[in-house]
Amino acid sequence: MARFIFVTGGVVSSLGKGLSSASLAYLLQSRGYKVRLRKLDPYLNVDPGTMSPFQHGEVFVTDDGAETDLDLGHYERFSGVSARKSDNITTGKIYNDVLKKERKGEYLGKTVQVIPHITDRIKEFIKKDSSKEDFVICEIGGIVGDIESLPFIEAIRQFANDIGKKNTLFIHLTLVPYLKSSDEIKTKPTQHSVKELRSIGIQPDIIICRSERSIPFEHRKKISLFCNVNIKNVIETVDVRTIYEAPISFFKEKLDIQVLNYFNLKSKKPVNLNPWKKITKIILQTKKQVNIAIIGKYVELKDAYKSLDEALTHGGIENNTKVNLVRIDSEKLEASEIPKKLRNISGILIPGGFGKRGTNGKIAAIKYARNNKIPFLGICYGMQMAIIEFARNKLNLKKATSSEFDKKGLPVIGLINEWVKDGKTIKGTDKDLGGTMRLGSYEAKLRDNSMIRKIYGKKVVNERHRHRYEVNINYKDKFEKKGMVFSGLSPDGLLPEIIELKNHPWFIGVQFHPEFKSRPLAPHPLFSSFIKAAKNHK
Ligand code: GLN
Repeated sequence: MARFIFVTGGVVSSLGKGLSSASLAYLLQSRGYKVRLRKLDPYLNVDPGTMSPFQHGEVFVTDDGAETDLDLGHYERFSGVSARKSDNITTGKIYNDVLKKERKGEYLGKTVQVIPHITDRIKEFIKKDSSKEDFVICEIGGIVGDIESLPFIEAIRQFANDIGKKNTLFIHLTLVPYLKSSDEIKTKPTQHSVKELRSIGIQPDIIICRSERSIPFEHRKKISLFCNVNIKNVIETVDVRTIYEAPISFFKEKLDIQVLNYFNLKSKKPVNLNPWKKITKIILQTKKQVNIAIIGKYVELKDAYKSLDEALTHGGIENNTKVNLVRIDSEKLEASEIPKKLRNISGILIPGGFGKRGTNGKIAAIKYARNNKIPFLGICYGMQMAIIEFARNKLNLKKATSSEFDKKGLPVIGLINEWVKDGKTIKGTDKDLGGTMRLGSYEAKLRDNSMIRKIYGKKVVNERHRHRYEVNINYKDKFEKKGMVFSGLSPDGLLPEIIELKNHPWFIGVQFHPEFKSRPLAPHPLFSSFIKAAKNHK
């Protein structure tokens, strides 16, 4: 049976529970254990799919088509294990399940209550498909004391009781602030947070203290004493220079060893930190740099393009180059100021997106990239905009548009049932927005002698999708005559997956999201090639 590690947060959110969990996963894996990571989110949305990136950051998509919290991206990037639908659950999803059952009469006339019905469903989820794992690390979103997270905290308390405390470990991550004015480190917020946790019946076994500076021994002792935790299990995590240093830093603090000790387990092999050391060194020391512009609608919130930022950094690591991300708000981008704004840019990237706002700025930037032979990567919406730009400016189809934002124009982009009439496809609704897109991993066949075929080095690729609209295949010949190659298609040949330009050093659009599959220890070839092209452009 798997052992379960629960990670809760205290004092404030955004302390890095996801990164701590992911780093611990790497260390345990490296010591020879099999690990799965899960996230329990307390909000009422059934999944984050309908949430704005402004609110909640990126929506991370799994191979099996789940729209999940961005922390699952961290998990994948650090552990190398692909997340599944069953690895992320929200309060909304739990209630949805329970209420459906109630309507079917499956509770046999009982009063349906938070305890036991909601907590039972949470516990079922925590345990699901875990028999083959050595460890399941379960992160609880939000912080202790939030009304919303209470049922989750109650469920994990019961869980420990059900499967035995020796198979369950509680880690609490809190903030240990440093006060400049009095030059002091304060442990009180941590004490209060642990008190809160204990009032619900959970005694943490390990406390991870997030701090700006190293925590002196006497403060650790204080935390140990007041929070009733062995001093060895008071672990500090001081701000790292790059997230890739996190596994190194937790290793130094012996987090993994303390976890193994708790479960009476031995390390099966020594930890290999070399890849992280190498990456950290490249990121912190390399002198070579390229500037990449990300032109999108959600540039103000850093987490909105989390996987994308990471994937570009990975491409940089592969090329021994630091990638400077220049975020440009597409809504504020006027065609006339593009040459000035993009003057020092060596690569232009248009990421995924939704809706009309900002499309003009994106299309103008694509035109600039195409005409000035600047390396360009269009992802999902970015590819769709590249199609519209080409149709308008090279095919002279001035009304070319997407039916996502203009129902009257010429739909070079549209819902597939707008042009496939054989009824074969189940896609094509824009009525119900939750979970109805083309989601998850789909195959694309790559054309021989194309640039993309060379980049991937294979004939068939599997990439993750998240879109409702498609490039209209009926225009393929017209585009190809003018030099745009449809170099990747779905196996049935109906859905353009990849486009590229013939007379351009590097111009590629992809209907999928390659960023979800890039990992620091295995950078995605598309991003490596894009950064290489950007380096050559300078
Ligand atoms: N809005 C577009 C669609 O639904 C693109 C989505 C995206 O970029 N992820 O097809």
